Amino acid sequence: MINTAMTAPLVDRFGRVHRDLRVSLTDRCSLRCTYCMPADGVPWLQSSTLLTTEELVRVVRVAAQLGIRSVRLTGGEPLLRPDVVDVVAALAALRTPDGPLELSLTTNGLRLSGLAAPLRDAGLTRVNISIDTLDRARFIEITRRDRLAQTLAGIEAAAVVGLAPLKLNALAMRGVNDDELGDLVAFAIERGAQMRFIEHMPLDAGHTFDRANLLTGAEILTILSERFTLTPKDARGSAPAKEFWVDGGPGSVGVIASVSTPFCDACDRVRLTADGQFRSCLFAHDEHDLRTPLRAGVDDVELADAMRAAVLLKKASHGIDSPDFRQPDRPMSAIGG
Ligand code: SAM
Repeated sequence: MINTAMTAPLVDRFGRVHRDLRVSLTDRCSLRCTYCMPADGVPWLQSSTLLTTEELVRVVRVAAQLGIRSVRLTGGEPLLRPDVVDVVAALAALRTPDGPLELSLTTNGLRLSGLAAPLRDAGLTRVNISIDTLDRARFIEITRRDRLAQTLAGIEAAAVVGLAPLKLNALAMRGVNDDELGDLVAFAIERGAQMRFIEHMPLDAGHTFDRANLLTGAEILTILSERFTLTPKDARGSAPAKEFWVDGGPGSVGVIASVSTPFCDACDRVRLTADGQFRSCLFAHDEHDLRTPLRAGVDDVELADAMRAAVLLKKASHGIDSPDFRQPDRPMSAIGG
């Protein structure tokens, strides 16, 4: 007999069915990007609060029974987790009624040249690599670290071992890298990758976000159109990026305009922080503690109920435009970007 308590999907009050789980493997990062963290970092999570690999795999296994089909590992910097290859192998071994999970990872690429092959062998299929600039001095200014060469080596390694499709992410910032957007697109296309530009979101620990200074998705497209002919691809479904063919294809570019053009209606994402808090939105103020019940020995049905209860509280939208919008207490690096 089918146990409906274990199969009823993660549906919210607005009928959105959740299929995508972002799992943060650590809140620590090897860079100190100005739009994300202060120069001195932020107070790190205590290691005793971090989910063990066994605990996080269990949460994902239960989530997969509730309809989750894709899992993206993130952080902080997920490749700083010492057992990241074991985490990937354990998640790749899980089976859903539709087969294995689609497993991807978002990284700054610094440790990828050594890890790309082991991660692929463990079952990782895709990576998104963050690179905001191709200029070394600018990279140092943005990230406060002299590590552009490692990120570039990580990108090459991902391409060589066949982690595909390869996506490169840049935060597009007025007066910082807005003169480089076309070069980043060309760089990505030369490597068979897709460049994606993200709008700055109010999620940084230093609270530097300034709406008045936002480089919007529309402005990003205007800048790119001066150099390329952009043709919209088909409807994006629940994917955050709106995609365009570049000069007729096969290369393409994506724009993630979460602030100026929210796509909350189609959101199918939920999140698990490295310390075991389940979140229904990046911008949510409420978190649902799964770590305490996990460690208290609850069964899978209770874990599933906790996830469904969290999803039922999901708001219609992130509310950035609302006059009473307040940034979440935790920064992006601690939630899992
Ligand atoms: N360390 C990994 C990386 O660099 O991709 C994963 C975590 S990082 C938080 C994920 C993405 O979030 C990066 O592409 C980063 O540029 C982006 N990000 C960080 N802070 C942001 C902000 N305030 N607004 C928009 N994107 C942000």
